[in-house]
Amino acid sequence: MKIGIYPGSFDPITLGHLDIIIRASKLVDKLIIGVLKNSSKKPLFTVEERVELIERVTKNVPGTNNIEIASFDGLLVDFAKKQNATIIVRGLRAITDFEYELQIAQTNHKLCPSLDTVFFTTSVEYSYVSSSVVREIACYGGDISQFIPESILQSVYDKYKSIRSV
Ligand code: ADP
Repeated sequence: MKIGIYPGSFDPITLGHLDIIIRASKLVDKLIIGVLKNSSKKPLFTVEERVELIERVTKNVPGTNNIEIASFDGLLVDFAKKQNATIIVRGLRAITDFEYELQIAQTNHKLCPSLDTVFFTTSVEYSYVSSSVVREIACYGGDISQFIPESILQSVYDKYKSIRSV
């Protein structure tokens, strides 16, 4: 059984992430979406919330019933070994992503030679979409409906509302 891991912060999941999930799930028998706990940046959503948002978004997507969602911290290679994964999935939006991703992919392969990274180039309509841009727009109450799945729109706005009311 070919197992792949798509790791990331997913803070929050965007249409760009969803596009990669749908395409990558066809490549492997099982795709584990690995939600990173110990992100160096302080996340907007807790890891439990990010997992729940991904569950909500992927629940009714046809052809993606080979997806699992799990959180992890520590080294990606350790998580991958524990899950018996042989493929890491990453997305490339621009040439600026490439330099960083190449270094990480080579390092991970060195640490665990049975692990290879497969890159998906972004679909053009999502090439400019990132979680950080979504957060920036939502923070000022702007329209993020073109960037994230509809089922989680309100949760993102509510999160900023709750932050403001503290
Ligand atoms: P990280 O903090 O690990 O970069 P992200 O949640 O920002 O986590 O992204 C996870 C993965 O998804 C990365 O490989 C990133 O390049 C990819 N990705 C993010 N947004 C898009 C997009 N719009 N199109 C394609 N890939 C994307």
